[in-house]
Amino acid sequence: MDRKEINAILEEAIALGKEAIPNGEVASYIPELSKADKNHLGLSIYTKDGRRYNMGDTDVRFTIQSISKIITLAVALEACGPEEIFAKVDVEPSGEAFNSLIDLDTTSNKPKNPMINSGALTVTSLLLNKTTFSEMRVFARKLCQDPEMDLDKAVFNSERANISRNRAIAYLLESKGIIESDVEDTLDLYTKMCSLTVTANSLANLGLTLANDGIDLSTGTRLLKTETVHMIKTIMLTCGMYDSSGEFAVHVGVPTKSGVGGGLVSTVDKEMGIGIFSPSLDEKGNCIAGRPVLEHLSKELKLHIFEWQSRIVDQVKPV
Ligand code: GLN
Repeated sequence: MDRKEINAILEEAIALGKEAIPNGEVASYIPELSKADKNHLGLSIYTKDGRRYNMGDTDVRFTIQSISKIITLAVALEACGPEEIFAKVDVEPSGEAFNSLIDLDTTSNKPKNPMINSGALTVTSLLLNKTTFSEMRVFARKLCQDPEMDLDKAVFNSERANISRNRAIAYLLESKGIIESDVEDTLDLYTKMCSLTVTANSLANLGLTLANDGIDLSTGTRLLKTETVHMIKTIMLTCGMYDSSGEFAVHVGVPTKSGVGGGLVSTVDKEMGIGIFSPSLDEKGNCIAGRPVLEHLSKELKLHIFEWQSRIVDQVKPV
């Protein structure tokens, strides 16, 4: 496919995304996020052969929110090792809202997975005596190849002032002996990571770094081990869209992680990273335009994980 054909597909995807925007709402439980322009929509694709396709609002900065959970998990897997992490947090889809504490309170002594708040807070707590926010930011900038990635102080202060729900989750985790570090310090580092700014462009870079086995395409530097990247991508596919993860895996079939700032990062193995920004959210807290955009790209570019695999097998079939 040439650039013109791909651009036409991107334009169709953007048009479908725009149709969905009025059906969602910007996040308001973090008051600062409610100031976002609901009509923004940006789509950025960065391919392994170095081509970039940008359409719409790809340079607008917004906060990464829950997409930071994959960065925190990646750092933790490498700093602590998978055994220590998975002794504290499961890797099963939760089927519940990202900020739910029901299952944790009533039936379990382990958060269901590291993509929901209870799991991410636990992972963050394990990093407290191993790293600092400043070191995490340096690493996040490398993973996203975005030197301007920084703390959005207004969003951070706004979330910190409205953190009762996450505080309840964190103290419940402490009461069960799952969090052993200081709870307020854990909340602080978690919220700071959520308040880092990105663009659709930098999310496409992050997606490609994951698609490229943890190697920064621009410098050839390995940033993450293969083992870590495999785990992150699997967890994105099974748990990245909270209680829409199964449905999303069926219809889109590309490992994706969302954030309530309106970001989505998708990773098409060995092929491309996709970054989307559109702050209008569906009732599960996922970017509402992202679903039709990604479904269209998946269908037209044959990106679904199983279709993609059969495409590769076809290519190596003897003629
Ligand atoms: N900072 C947000 C929270 O903890 C992140 C949630 C999200 O992006 N789904 O509530």
